[in-house]
Amino acid sequence: MAKYTGASCRECRREGCKLFLKGERCTSAKCSFDHRSTAPGQHGAARKKVGEYGRQLREKQKVRRYYGVLEKQFGLYYEMAERKEGMTGENLLILLERRLDNVVYRMGMAESRKEARQLVLHAHFTLNGKKVNVPSILVKPGDVIAVREKSRESAKFKTLAEEMASVNKPKWIDANNENQTAKIVAMPERSDIDFEIEEQLIVELYSK
Ligand code: SF4
Repeated sequence: MAKYTGASCRECRREGCKLFLKGERCTSAKCSFDHRSTAPGQHGAARKKVGEYGRQLREKQKVRRYYGVLEKQFGLYYEMAERKEGMTGENLLILLERRLDNVVYRMGMAESRKEARQLVLHAHFTLNGKKVNVPSILVKPGDVIAVREKSRESAKFKTLAEEMASVNKPKWIDANNENQTAKIVAMPERSDIDFEIEEQLIVELYSK
């Protein structure tokens, strides 16, 4: 089992850390990173000296993969972050946290961000009472996300709702397990992101 080398797991090995891309598998004994953490490829196990640019690039790729965002879109988030007041790196992470697919994952209605993206694309959710199918929508305080009435009855969502109760939610999301809804009660803060990120490296990369 531990030999699983699917594309997602290869991404973890490439970035040298667990990116939690495969839901339950990531916290189980089946996680392939826990068994083999060297970079993929023939020379992956060889120790390579990583320069400053390499570290910056890897940090950007790590965050991009963690949130499941494409290169071009990531660049657009960076531009938005730069235009905002405050620290660009923090602004960037907060923008990524506010994505609807991330919120669906954080409220416990998907096992991974990838799954959350699929569920949103298939229009299983409403935002403020209206059907949505755009994973990149940025939520704001006051927004209410809910599983659509029709979807709530499916076996998949019934299971997810049961599991939702045990998921640790960040304080900016007020989730109601029973109704399968969540209200955004505040903007996310940097301290709400418990994944290890050196965002300054990303800022340095884009500032070149
Ligand atoms: Fe695969 Fe998840 Fe482990 Fe990464 S953390 S290697 S995606 S099982």
